[in-house]
Amino acid sequence: AAGGAGDFISDAVEQDLANGVHGGRVRTRFPPEPNGYLHIGHAKAITVDFGTAERFGGVCNLRFDDTNPVAENPEFVQSILDDIAWLGYEPGAVLHASGHFEQLYRWALLLVEQGLAYVDDQDNETISAQRGGFGRPGVESPYRNRTVAENLDLFTRMRAGEFPDGSRVLRARIDMDADNMALRDPVMYRIRHAEHHQTGTRWPIYPTYDWAHGQSDAIEGVTHSLCTLEFDAHRPLYDWFLEHLPLPTDKPRQIEFARLELTHTITSKRRLAALVNGGVVDGWDDPRMPTLRGLRRRGYPAKAVRDFCTYVGTTRTNSRHAIEELESFVRRELNTTSQRRMVVTRPLRLVLDDWPTDEDGAPVVEHFRLTNNPENPDDGTREVAFTGELLIEREDFAEVPPPKFFRLAPGREVRLRGAYLVTATDVVKDADGEIVEVHASYDPATRGGNAPDGRRVRSTMHWVSAPHAVDVRVALYDRLFTAVNPGEATGEPLDDLNPDSCELLDSAKGEAAIADVEPGRVVQFERLGYFAADPRTKRLFHRTVGLRDEWAALQRR
Ligand code: ATP
Ligand code: MG
Ligand code: MG
Repeated sequence: AAGGAGDFISDAVEQDLANGVHGGRVRTRFPPEPNGYLHIGHAKAITVDFGTAERFGGVCNLRFDDTNPVAENPEFVQSILDDIAWLGYEPGAVLHASGHFEQLYRWALLLVEQGLAYVDDQDNETISAQRGGFGRPGVESPYRNRTVAENLDLFTRMRAGEFPDGSRVLRARIDMDADNMALRDPVMYRIRHAEHHQTGTRWPIYPTYDWAHGQSDAIEGVTHSLCTLEFDAHRPLYDWFLEHLPLPTDKPRQIEFARLELTHTITSKRRLAALVNGGVVDGWDDPRMPTLRGLRRRGYPAKAVRDFCTYVGTTRTNSRHAIEELESFVRRELNTTSQRRMVVTRPLRLVLDDWPTDEDGAPVVEHFRLTNNPENPDDGTREVAFTGELLIEREDFAEVPPPKFFRLAPGREVRLRGAYLVTATDVVKDADGEIVEVHASYDPATRGGNAPDGRRVRSTMHWVSAPHAVDVRVALYDRLFTAVNPGEATGEPLDDLNPDSCELLDSAKGEAAIADVEPGRVVQFERLGYFAADPRTKRLFHRTVGLRDEWAALQRR
């Protein structure tokens, strides 16, 4: 999939520019409703909205689509501002649909005066039932032919707060037989006596999405209103409203593109809220959540998210992308930006019986200089202490090695990364027969990890010096949903929840330099993967991704 310039949206914008529409100006907007946190799907919309403006030297506004006071609040407003900044975008202006309520109301009056809108006294269910369906004509409301004078009177009294919730609506008077259901006299205003986080109790009526959206675009001078495919059927209505208003500028143009969905992932705000409220996850920023704050806490670099969105491209076909593809972008980015550290997640003691002691009888401590990041010399080196009491990964030792196991085993020599070649000699077991300690000898001639006689070993292992080790906790994550398309079988994504999506290892040990990793930073634990330091809890690390490129593996299958 090719992304970037050359997509159908850019082509449409280019054509408009060539035709002199909007005086050669490009302005887009990203219009979230502040009723939840942004997720990976929103990142796609953000890169399309901001990316298109950028490509043509224009700006992209952030517009809070805050027309439903009951679901929205300032906490969501703030989180959206933060998440957009994290993704690396700066809105040309920050606006609220609620800031346009007065202009929207005046324009609605204008439609009423032209006989193009009327007050309907029927309830929601009746109005829905009368809408009909494809091939079935709609039923006209008995209030459809009210006089302009009566409609003006009722609508101004709706606005004045004289009527209770749900008792009346304002509807556009278009065509109850239209093939497009969106044109069958859509609702423009509902009565709702509720406090709004921006406008307080000033408005007892609230505009619907259909009425607010295109008009807000026009007020803000938006030239291209980019939205997802489900609004495709609403475009004729979007245009109808604009064509019946005295606009100061050229009409904005709505263009739809496909939603981004990922395998093993849900992106409905309502369903994500259910995970949080049901205690399935630890909040909106749980590292397993597809919210931007979840991905961020997990250690996903913003650049990887942006690059992935560009890579999947802008199309008009809904599809589900493999989450392994996104992880490939994350891994590629982290490979160049993350420093390396050694951490043993399930420690096993390794004792070098022939390790020397100093004149006081204490074990000698040596220091090795290791490269922080082979991909970036500017990251320099660090010192790592080494002595005769070490910790290795429990699974790097086998008393009876199975076929193809090349790591440490009795009588076998391996390399301890950057230090020495060691050979296992013996094991110590506890009363249950479990191995608690491995004994080994080392070859002093292999300092730095290479044998002067050129002999080879099959395995290089990470290690930590036991007396210098720092306690860390490590959270390993698996998919939150086992199914590729959560909820596909039963309609309920919770049925596909993975009961083992998080494993906390709380006796992991890291080299001393692990203590300096700043909150939020990602490091590569040698041989294990990329791990993000939690932004709040010290020495807690979240596995961002493993080292193996599962996308490449899937492709080969
Ligand atoms: P939800 O259905 O989860 O409530 P929404 O689409 O209603 O999401 P909004 O806050 O209204 O959420 O969305 C803001 C913008 O982001 C809209 O233009 C919407 O089309 C776009 N968007 C939302 N989800 C996706 C997605 N999965 N892929 C691409 N764009 C998306
Ligand atoms: Mg919405
Ligand atoms: Mg929605």
